[in-house]
Amino acid sequence: MIHNFDNHVNIIKKIEELREKIRYHNYRYYVLDDPTVSDAEYDRLMKGLIELEEKYPRYITPYSPTQRVGIEPVSEFTTVKHITPMLSLANAFSTEELRAFNQRIKKLIPQQKLEYVVELKIDGLAVALVYENSIFIRGATRGDGVTGEEITSNLRIIKTIPLKLFGEDNLLHCEVYGEVYMKKSDFKKLNEERIKKGESLFANPRNAAAGSARQLDPRITAQRHLDTFIYRATFPEGNNFNTHIEVLNYLKKIGFKVNPHIKLCQDIEEAINYCQKWIEKKEELDYEIDGMVIKVNSLKMREELGSTTRSPRWAIAYKFPAQQVTTKVQDIIVQVGRTGALTPVAVLDPVRISGSVVQRATLHNEDEIRRKDVRIGDIVLIQKAGEVIPEVVKVIKEKRTGKEMEFVMPSQCPVCGAKVFRLEGEVASRCNSLTCPAQIKERIRHFASRNAMDIEGLGPAIIDQLVENGLIIDISNLYFLKRSDLIALQRMGEKSVDNLLDAIEKSKKKSLANLIYGLGIRYVGLHTSEVITRSYSTLDKFEKARLEALIEINEIGPKIAESIILFFKEKENLAIIERLRSAGLNFNLEEEKMRKEKVTQILAGKQFVLTGTLKDFTRTQAKKIIIELGGRVTGSVSKKTDYVVAGEEPGSKYQKAQELGVNIINEEEFKKIITKNS
Ligand code: NAD
Repeated sequence: MIHNFDNHVNIIKKIEELREKIRYHNYRYYVLDDPTVSDAEYDRLMKGLIELEEKYPRYITPYSPTQRVGIEPVSEFTTVKHITPMLSLANAFSTEELRAFNQRIKKLIPQQKLEYVVELKIDGLAVALVYENSIFIRGATRGDGVTGEEITSNLRIIKTIPLKLFGEDNLLHCEVYGEVYMKKSDFKKLNEERIKKGESLFANPRNAAAGSARQLDPRITAQRHLDTFIYRATFPEGNNFNTHIEVLNYLKKIGFKVNPHIKLCQDIEEAINYCQKWIEKKEELDYEIDGMVIKVNSLKMREELGSTTRSPRWAIAYKFPAQQVTTKVQDIIVQVGRTGALTPVAVLDPVRISGSVVQRATLHNEDEIRRKDVRIGDIVLIQKAGEVIPEVVKVIKEKRTGKEMEFVMPSQCPVCGAKVFRLEGEVASRCNSLTCPAQIKERIRHFASRNAMDIEGLGPAIIDQLVENGLIIDISNLYFLKRSDLIALQRMGEKSVDNLLDAIEKSKKKSLANLIYGLGIRYVGLHTSEVITRSYSTLDKFEKARLEALIEINEIGPKIAESIILFFKEKENLAIIERLRSAGLNFNLEEEKMRKEKVTQILAGKQFVLTGTLKDFTRTQAKKIIIELGGRVTGSVSKKTDYVVAGEEPGSKYQKAQELGVNIINEEEFKKIITKNS
C-alpha cells in the first residue's frame, strides 16, 4: 500500500515536471519566437506526457498543455475570438501510426468509403482571416485556439492575402485558416542582414515568419517578405460543399493562395506513399514543411468523427524525421582544409538527424564561434540545412553549468606546426606552409597545373599514390623521383613513367611567372605573378622583397603584399625553394628571355625598313632586335616590304611606302610586334 502511494507520488511528480517543461517551451516558441529546444525534443516531451495521461486519466487537469492548443495571446496585442476554434493536429511519427489512425476512423464510421486528402504541412504561423461582405476585415494568430492576437495591419501587408475576394457574391462572409510562412531564400537573406547589423539570428524560417508577423510596428513586417497558404474555411451562413477538395478549389477561385501539391488518395496506403515521397522531395521547395497532413475528404464524415479538445479526429500530421536536434559539444577541434584554411569543428555527442548519425558539425570560423558564443561543453541545437554537413544553429544558454570552456584558435597549424596567420579582411585563419601534410596533395595539383609548371600526366590518382607511399612530402621531391619509384606505382606502365619523367624535366624550363604562381602563395594568381616578374627579375630578389616595395608596385595591394611576406617568413618554404633551385628550375627572368629569343623567331621572313628617329632605340639596336627575331632590314621600300617603321621626322621612304600601300607602323606598334609572344 505504502509502496503504491509512493509510486503515485512519483507519477504525479513526473507529470508535473513534464507539464512545467512544456509550458516553458510553449512560451519560448509561441510568445518569444525563440525556442530553446528542437521541435523533435519538444515532441518527445509532449508524447511522454500524453502517454502518462492516457495511462492515468485521473490526473488530467484542464490546465495541462495536452488539453489546449498553443498558448494564450500575449497582452500587447488585442485579442479576438475565432469563429470556430483553431485546433492543433494529432501527430504521427511512423507509418504504423498512420495505419492506426486509419483503423480508428474505420471503427468509428464503418461501412463508409474513405477518401483522404494529403497536404504539405507548412511550417509557419497559423492565422485566421475574417472576411465580411467579401472584404478582409480582421486577421489573427491561432493563440490558444479559441482566442488569438489581432494582427490585421501586419497581415494586410502580405500580398497573397486578398483584401477583397473575387466572384459574383459580394456579400460573402467567411473565416479562412492558413499558414503565414517565410521562404527559405528570404530567411537566409534576413539572417545575413541581421549578422551585419549584429542582431540575434532567427533559428529557422518558422520563427522568422512568426516574429515578423507578430510585430507591433507593421513597418517592420513590411520589410520582411511573408507569404501564405490557405487550407480551410468556415462559412457562418452555411455552404453547399460536400468535400474538402471542393472547398480548396473554391478558395483558389476567390483569390486565396492554396498549395499546389495537394493529392486526393483512395486509401491510407496511397496516402502513405505520397507522404514518403515528400521526405526526399521537400528539399526542392523554397519553403519549409515539417511533415504532411492527412485529412478525411468528406465533410459529412468529418462532422460524424468530431474532435477532442486539442485536435480533430479526422486529420493527422505525419511528422518528418527531425531536421534539428539538440546535443552536447564534447570538444572543438580544428581541421586544416586542402587549401590551408583552418576550420573549427564541433565534436558532438552522437545524435540521429534526418536519418543519419551525426558526430560533427562545422562552426565555419572563429568569428562565427564568437557570434554564436559556442563553448566546449555547451548544449547546442544543430541542423542539417539541406546540405550534407550539419551546422550549429545556436547554443542553449539556459543549460550552461558554468563549466563550459571558451575556444581559442591555435597559433600553430594543428597538422604541421607552422605559424597560423589571418589576413586582414579574411574570416579564415590559415596555414601557409608548403610542407603541411593536410595541403600537400592540393599543392602538388596546383604546382602541376597548366598555368603553373604544366606537368602532364600528374593526375589525382598518381598524386594520391605518391603522397600516400611517402614518395613526396613537398613539391621539390617531384624533381628527385626515380624511375624505380614510379614503376612501382599502380597503373603506371613503362611508357607513362617515361612520359611523366619527361614532363617533370620539361617543367624545369617553365617561366619564372609560372613558377611563382605554382608556389601557391595566397592571392598570387598568374597575372600577379607576371606583374611581380616585371619588378623582380629573379626569384631571389622577389624572396627578399620588402613590404613597402611590394605595395608600391601597381596592381599589388597591401593584402597581396602581406600574404607574400608571410609566405617567405616560413623557414620551411625557403628550404623547399632552395631544393627547387638545386633541381635546376628556372629562377631567372633574363636567362629565360635570352633562351626564348633564341628559339622564337617570331619575325621570320618579314622585311622591315626603318625611317625617322625612334625614341627608345638607336637604328642599330632596332636592326639587331629584328634580325634576332628572324626578320630582315632593307634600305629601301619596295612592294616586298612588310613594315615601314616610322620614327620622328621620317624621310622620303615614308611617302614611298604610302604610295605603294605598305604597312606603316609607329614606334609603339613596333614594340608590340617585337614583344608579341615573348
Ligand atoms: P503542429 O505544428 O503539430 O500542427 C498543427 C498546425 O499545423 C496547424 O495549427 C497549422 O498551423 C499547421 N498546418 C500547416 N500546414 C497545414 C495543413 N496543410 N493543414 C492543416 N494544418 C496545417 O501543432 P502546433 O500545435 O501548431 O504546434 C506544435 C508543434 O510546434 C510541436 O509539435 C513542435 O513541433 C512545435 N513546438 C516546438 C516548441 C519548441 O520549443 N521547439 C514549442 C512548442 C511547439
